[in-house]
Amino acid sequence: MTTRILWFRNDLRLADNPALLDAIEGSERLLPVYIDDEPAEQPWREGGASRWWRHHSLAALDRSLRDLGSRLLILQGDAEGELKQLIAVTGAQRVCWNRRYEPALIERDRALKVELKGQGIDCASHNGQLLREPWQLLNKSGQPYRVFTPFWRAAGSEVGAQAPRPAPGALPPLPPDAPDGLALERLELLPRIPWDPGLAETWTPGEAGAQARLRGFLDDYPDYPEQRDLPATPGTSMLSPHLHFGELSPRQVAFAILGAASAAPETEGGAQSYLRQLGWREFAHHLLYHYPHTSDRPLDRRFEGFPWREDEPALAAWQRGETGIPMVDAGQRQLWRTGWMHNRVRMLVASLLTKNLGLHWLDGARWFWDTLVDADLANNSLGWQWTAGCGADAAPYFRIFNPATQGQRFDPQGEYVRRWVPELAQMPSKWIHQPWQAPADQLRAAGVRLGENYPEPLVDLQATRRRALAAWDRIKRQK
Ligand code: FAD
Repeated sequence: MTTRILWFRNDLRLADNPALLDAIEGSERLLPVYIDDEPAEQPWREGGASRWWRHHSLAALDRSLRDLGSRLLILQGDAEGELKQLIAVTGAQRVCWNRRYEPALIERDRALKVELKGQGIDCASHNGQLLREPWQLLNKSGQPYRVFTPFWRAAGSEVGAQAPRPAPGALPPLPPDAPDGLALERLELLPRIPWDPGLAETWTPGEAGAQARLRGFLDDYPDYPEQRDLPATPGTSMLSPHLHFGELSPRQVAFAILGAASAAPETEGGAQSYLRQLGWREFAHHLLYHYPHTSDRPLDRRFEGFPWREDEPALAAWQRGETGIPMVDAGQRQLWRTGWMHNRVRMLVASLLTKNLGLHWLDGARWFWDTLVDADLANNSLGWQWTAGCGADAAPYFRIFNPATQGQRFDPQGEYVRRWVPELAQMPSKWIHQPWQAPADQLRAAGVRLGENYPEPLVDLQATRRRALAAWDRIKRQK
């Protein structure tokens, strides 16, 4: 009797899942398993918002498997030990999984494969998460790419080349001696203090929720180039957590967008602009694979000795959305409530933290890690290092965003700020992004008392900009 184990990780879907297709090919018994194997001391252990998402996504996956007469076996503990025990109990001959690309997991999986193969167990790992494997693309000198545009020129040809594969209509039954496993609740992924209603209002984790979100975006992508920078408008796809947890493959997303664009050629520009963002996701994974230290250390070595400041109260005000700088506060409150923040605003809050407040980019990266539902080691490391100016193809350090002028440009009516910072709801659009400059009578009419019901700005944007540039001047000539 052929029995196979399908080890689910960040590929929580049935459609276009290469490990699943491998595991059912010619198999008479199938054991779908998820192993909660994060030791408490592991660096970049999943944060609170991700754990919330994972709970609901695993529940959805289990329901889909049950619809096909199977179920998800949930285990907890060291993956190698758990898999070996399962193999011993069920007599499985092959284990299939889709790869993960976090440096610690690459090493762990490599060792595990050697160990299982040494015991005569067949192992097969697949690419279920990226359009191209990070090691497949090198530049003309045989080096990894460090600049996005040539990377995407080389990688982009793959987009849409292969059609995604549908979910199987049936699954082999479980082996009769399959253990029961744990109830999902035993993993304790949900918060003890219920801070999650905003997450539940915003998201539907799981494959069906992901596909519904993708279908909805097929109406919106033609306007993506004009809308993507406006945080008050639902102009981006909000697919990031679904992609991170593998409820959709990037191939499914690209294929759907290209399919829609081929039926309406005038929307090709919107499609290409959107696919380029999927390209940044690929680029982030390429970088983390080739420079595995960049989750914790800057790619640009000159920043190793950068004089980052320590300032707990400033960090706490930034986290809580109480900096007195409206776009930043709106972004942080959106993040706290929904587990997501618009990309333009992520750049603004990150720039304020690293440049105006002078705090380490890792302080920000760790906060995002805990609070984002799409927290992703590759994308988060790239995003923070890009904004801080110390990563690949980064914004130059001296480009310091001014959140007030950015607000006037990308949220001209102040709609985004009014939504997330209700204290400022009555401010005239002219002053909403810099209430500290508003005339006293305008503040009074809007019911805003700076320092009482809305903070004075935590920093002087101009003075801290000069301080940041001076720090940059000191390190920029180092090799
Ligand atoms: P869309 O605009 O609809 O883009 C489609 C998809 O492309 C996204 O779902 C995402 O998978 C990918 N993508 C888009 N922009 C980027 C980018 N700049 N880098 C890498 N991939 C991108 N994204 C994460 O998924 N996880 C993170 O932890 C994360 N941390 C970030 C931290 C900072 C400081 C910054 C500036 C950006 C970060 N991003 C991160 C990138 C980006 O902000 C989000 O991917 C995007 O806002 C998600 O919303 P969306 O799905 O509507 O994006």
